[in-house]
Amino acid sequence: MARCDEGYRCEVCGRDVEAIADSDLYLRYVLGEVPLEVLHRLPERHVRCNPALAQYVTDAAFEPVACDGPFAKSELDPAFVADEECRVTRGWRRLQAIPRLGLTVPEYPLSVTPAPEDL
Ligand SMILES: [Zn+2]
Repeated sequence: MARCDEGYRCEVCGRDVEAIADSDLYLRYVLGEVPLEVLHRLPERHVRCNPALAQYVTDAAFEPVACDGPFAKSELDPAFVADEECRVTRGWRRLQAIPRLGLTVPEYPLSVTPAPEDL
């Protein structure tokens, strides 16, 4: 189990999550799925270590992740998949931009301030 003094260790692969751009936790925070007040208490993961979400990132800069099992895109409704690809890819692009946007943590979520590329 992750402990506070272990830093940002990925609970899936056990390696450190060294950059916010690789953080599944912050991706979900940007997407509005994780509230700020619990952000510091949840286990950290790499984006790629959570295939159920990472499979929806469709960007040339992101090597596609395949998700097996009942949550695989191929098993789901195409309209839902298209919406998720749009939503998650937008969040992922914002996550990549955060280091140069100069935002405070409460400003990270897409719902608070749009990223410049969304304007
Ligand atoms: Zn990992």
